[in-house]
Amino acid sequence: MNLSEYLSEADTIEREGSTALQSAADADALEAARIAFLGDRQGRVKGLQEALRGISKEDKPAAGKRFNEARTRLEALHAERKSAIERATTSGVQDDPSLPARRQWRGAKHPVTLVIEEIEGIFRELGFTIAQGPEAETEWYNFGALNFPSNHPALDAHDTLYLEGQGLLRTHTSPVQVRTLQKYEPPIRVLIPGNVYRRDFFDASHAPAFAQIEGLCVDEGISFVDLKSTLNRFAERFFGASRTRFRPSFFPFTEPSAEMDVQCGICGGSGCAACKGTGWIEILGSGMVHPNVLEAAGIDSERYTGWAFGMGPARIAISRYGIPDIRVLYDSDVRFLEQIAE
Ligand SMILES: [Zn+2]
Repeated sequence: MNLSEYLSEADTIEREGSTALQSAADADALEAARIAFLGDRQGRVKGLQEALRGISKEDKPAAGKRFNEARTRLEALHAERKSAIERATTSGVQDDPSLPARRQWRGAKHPVTLVIEEIEGIFRELGFTIAQGPEAETEWYNFGALNFPSNHPALDAHDTLYLEGQGLLRTHTSPVQVRTLQKYEPPIRVLIPGNVYRRDFFDASHAPAFAQIEGLCVDEGISFVDLKSTLNRFAERFFGASRTRFRPSFFPFTEPSAEMDVQCGICGGSGCAACKGTGWIEILGSGMVHPNVLEAAGIDSERYTGWAFGMGPARIAISRYGIPDIRVLYDSDVRFLEQIAE
């Protein structure tokens, strides 16, 4: 083959190869065109390369240059067509600017998260900061430092999830109160959200793991008046409650202790299904921090006093959003979450 025959053969292969590659309608057609022209064994470009051997020494540089041009061009066309076919396959549509936009899916916050965030917002405005602590605790932080006697039923393995060896899963967020008191000097005002664990059956109103939120305020001269006024302000802001009531109660870590109820917002206190006919809804437990708790954490109980409260955001979410069964909160069904989302 002389030089002019070689150059003409190169032109033909480049022209026919370009047509075949550019007109390939799908991945299979493109692969067939690639094998025909750029294939390692029988491809026509390979044949053109082998034909270089028959070109005379002085014509070889010109022929080699033309060969490289043809091969480079066909390889580039193949890559271009390949990515165009892939784009069309993954998007499922050819580019069509007249199609309506697809609705963007945004997700939604869990109702318990919504409740916790709103409570945090109210207490932040009242000067509280957020504190957190470990979910795996020692018996001392979970019970001992909180004035539980060692024979208290809550320490029993029927109620508490003990870890192998040492430690347990905290049954309330109160250990974080102890850790905060150990770490900081009063004045202390913290809000403590977190998950807690009990050895409970999973039924319509109980779960073995659930969220809790506690508050703690310790300073000189703090009295029950501070507790009542702060919690009343919270109830007014969060529940729109016009009236609250405090009922005497008992917790090992507070003295005196009180349960706080808010007047039912649905019936206005006359009694309905939501408040089980009582006109009141129980929302939290509270009390003055027991001096033994302050002393256990190294705080001088002669100088400082404080109050604390604790409540369950899941129960609040259930009454706020009218959720019939607590287990719905654990199902992770986005259709349910979308109903609650704002
Ligand atoms: Zn009611």
